[in-house]
Amino acid sequence: MSASDRPVVFRNGLVLTMDDAHTVLPGADVLVVGDRIAEVGIGLTAPDDALEIDATDGILMPGMIDTHRHLWQTAMRGYGADWTLTQYFVWYYLESGKLFRPEDVYAGNLLGAIEAIDAGVTTTVDWSHGLQTPEHADAAVDALEAVDGRFVLAYGNIQQGPWEWATSPEFRDFHRRRIDGGKLAGFQLAFDVTGDPAFPERAAFEVARELGAPVTTHAGVWGATNDDGIRLMHENGFMTPSTVYVHAATLTHDSYNRIAATGGSVSVSTESEQSAGQGYPPTWQLRHHDIPVSLSMDTSVWWSGDLFSAMRSTLGADRSREHLEAHAKQETITHCHLRAEQVVEWATRGGARALGMDTTIGALTPGRQADVVLIKNDASPAMFPILNPHGHVVFQAQRADVHTVLVAGRVVKRDGRLVGVDLAAARARVAATIDHLRETMGEQAWQRGMNPDIPETAILENPYQYTEWDAGSAQWKH
Ligand SMILES: [Zn+2]
Repeated sequence: MSASDRPVVFRNGLVLTMDDAHTVLPGADVLVVGDRIAEVGIGLTAPDDALEIDATDGILMPGMIDTHRHLWQTAMRGYGADWTLTQYFVWYYLESGKLFRPEDVYAGNLLGAIEAIDAGVTTTVDWSHGLQTPEHADAAVDALEAVDGRFVLAYGNIQQGPWEWATSPEFRDFHRRRIDGGKLAGFQLAFDVTGDPAFPERAAFEVARELGAPVTTHAGVWGATNDDGIRLMHENGFMTPSTVYVHAATLTHDSYNRIAATGGSVSVSTESEQSAGQGYPPTWQLRHHDIPVSLSMDTSVWWSGDLFSAMRSTLGADRSREHLEAHAKQETITHCHLRAEQVVEWATRGGARALGMDTTIGALTPGRQADVVLIKNDASPAMFPILNPHGHVVFQAQRADVHTVLVAGRVVKRDGRLVGVDLAAARARVAATIDHLRETMGEQAWQRGMNPDIPETAILENPYQYTEWDAGSAQWKH
């Protein structure tokens, strides 16, 4: 019998329930029976056969939820660290993205899915916009089904207009074969709305409506999507409470008002927005408009699938903005408006709400699915003292401190090690993908893609800058 078939009881942890009151229970137990949380409290009685996990000096929290990840790109982890959004678009959309075969999508998805559960991200939306053929789509789902996590497939294809792929018989056939009654946690349609006044995306929205599938869309991306896309969606009645607007960083108040009024949510990818340039991470705007927020990591071609960094960077970016605006008015911020507790909420309940799963995941309360993360690392000097539990999760903890992870009551990570995962096999698949890309592109193009040219540097005019230091006279030469 594997551990996951037994009840599990975590003993003596600091429990962040993330229930509606954000109840924190020090020295508490969490009992899991089957796929659900049975009880949370002090000194619980557990069944005799329960697997007991000591959570002393650790934090128990709900599994984290990432609402926007291009998992297929995990095969190229870190390659685009110095990219801008333009370089990303050229690489994936226009040039080399087409080289991905179904097995390459499988390799990226497999590694990304494993990475997610390792980091305590128990639910991930795979924003899968590399599905050039039904074989690519099958490969994406095969990989997600091979990993014991909760995955939502957001189907997309950047090589065609959404009005083309979403209306094709192949797409319908795929949906019938793999989604209806399949093992995935959910299904979305993933495409962007360009703002073309003819609104060709209408056909894809109609398919989504017919299938009862939410739409997730990169909105408010500087230079790519803007207020026109939001207006067209709104005027045509396609903005719904289940719509997820990714980034929503470069938009006017009018667009935020339309999102707020129709009940949709925004998936904020702070590290992405800061580095790629979609716009300033928008939580300061979203808070103002009372728009629900979830968090996401976007892609491992730049960043990692690690919601600790999403929480940390989001809190920092929001505060940074607030200070900057105050300083511009010669004022100072004496109290931070955004609190650590709020970003933990966004990483858990926020994601659950965005996915319409708020009654099943996102909190440690009896009856919900047992997606549980134990953050504990007795060897780490950063894991004590734990005084401010939400703040500790956001600013102190990191993925290496993820000790144990349960998904639907199954132990998928224990004592810091993944359970039942063949990492060597995943690594071999990714290596084969990299070989394929390198060989097909040629070494020069591969290197050039990773190391974009830096334009000629302009010398900053600085009145305090001297021309040359003369070591002999120990003086500046003028
Ligand atoms: Zn994205």
